[in-house]
Amino acid sequence: ADTMETLQSNNYNIYFNDALAEVARFIEQGKYSRFFVLTDENTGKYCLPLLREKLGDADFDLIEINAGEESKDIDFCIGVWKMLIDFGADRKSLLINLGGGVVSDLGGFAASTFKRGIDFVHVPTTLLSQVDASVGGKTGIDIDSIKNIIGTFTQPKAVFIDYEFLKTLPARQILSGTAEMLKHGLICDAEYWSLLKESDLSQPTGEMVYKSVAIKNKVVLEDPHERNIRKSLNFGHTIGHAVETYSLINDEDSLSHGEAIAIGMICEAYLSYKKTGLSLDELNEITDVLMELYPFYQLRDEMNDELLEIMKKDKKNLSGNINCTLLSKIGQFNIDNICTSDELIESLQYYAS
Ligand code: NAD
Ligand code: ZN
Repeated sequence: ADTMETLQSNNYNIYFNDALAEVARFIEQGKYSRFFVLTDENTGKYCLPLLREKLGDADFDLIEINAGEESKDIDFCIGVWKMLIDFGADRKSLLINLGGGVVSDLGGFAASTFKRGIDFVHVPTTLLSQVDASVGGKTGIDIDSIKNIIGTFTQPKAVFIDYEFLKTLPARQILSGTAEMLKHGLICDAEYWSLLKESDLSQPTGEMVYKSVAIKNKVVLEDPHERNIRKSLNFGHTIGHAVETYSLINDEDSLSHGEAIAIGMICEAYLSYKKTGLSLDELNEITDVLMELYPFYQLRDEMNDELLEIMKKDKKNLSGNINCTLLSKIGQFNIDNICTSDELIESLQYYAS
């Protein structure tokens, strides 16, 4: 379809049509001396065979990390650097990040610092990484449970989005990505939000993925370093990140990023109703859609202090104030809203009730 063309980003292309064949074309340019593919256990198993098939006899070395957020830390980063050294990577090497947001964030960070920076591309294999993590040039790792606290703004040389990968993705991971797609509608495009809320989101179409990437790409192109409008993408993330971190520390089966962001969007929609003009009807609509899609997570009053502590450490804050991106209506964001502890607690109680 004519809507699915290649998107131009910050000096690189985002490929959609037959994206894996584009990877092969990309590496045949003769620009690189060596190729390295970074996977985790799952993408090594489910996604690497598809890539290998397209790459034919192209020679590459493999680096594999464990699956899960725990791998996004300095120890695994050192592991990647050491493998690159052992394999003899030089400055004309290319790192191909084949995986979800953990692989693209860690791989992008490792590449952006190795020998002061080697080129990398993303082949995102989760819905979340296709519509969000692979686009925008943020790389990073966690320290303890502080997410993305160390990182760089470094653009990939290309992003290849192939929907084939979504076929092996567990349902819960699909829904994790759907939360970001719904967010794109809520902040920028009421029509897209309406389309999504009426669709079967257990199987997002290629058009929907494309639309979300187009929204995110437009925002990051206008404001690559998050000085103003890129903050729109933080809707749901001040509270969502805190809930995600809390769950990572305290729960055996912790929330996915999208599940936590869905909770954050409900709370922050409530704050939007209180502070920035979202109507009660719109608040109810957002709450109903998200409550139906995502499992209910028990927020108890005893958790509030810890959640607020986590929010205070958020790197989005300036001068110690907790800052939220809110909505003024569905399809229109409103950045830089300072929220008091009382307001934040009230919004958590709104979710809990
Ligand atoms: P993930 O990379 O951990 O992937 C989720 C799970 O799916 C993993 O177990 C993985 O092994 C598995 N998997 C991946 N592809 C698969 C496939 N095709 N088939 C079967 N299993 C597959 O997590 P994620 O949700 O993709 O990304 C979350 C991370 O992304 C977080 O660390 C978050 O901070 C980061 N993120 C970064 C940005 C950014 O702008 N850089 C934006 C959003 C999120
Ligand atoms: Zn997110």
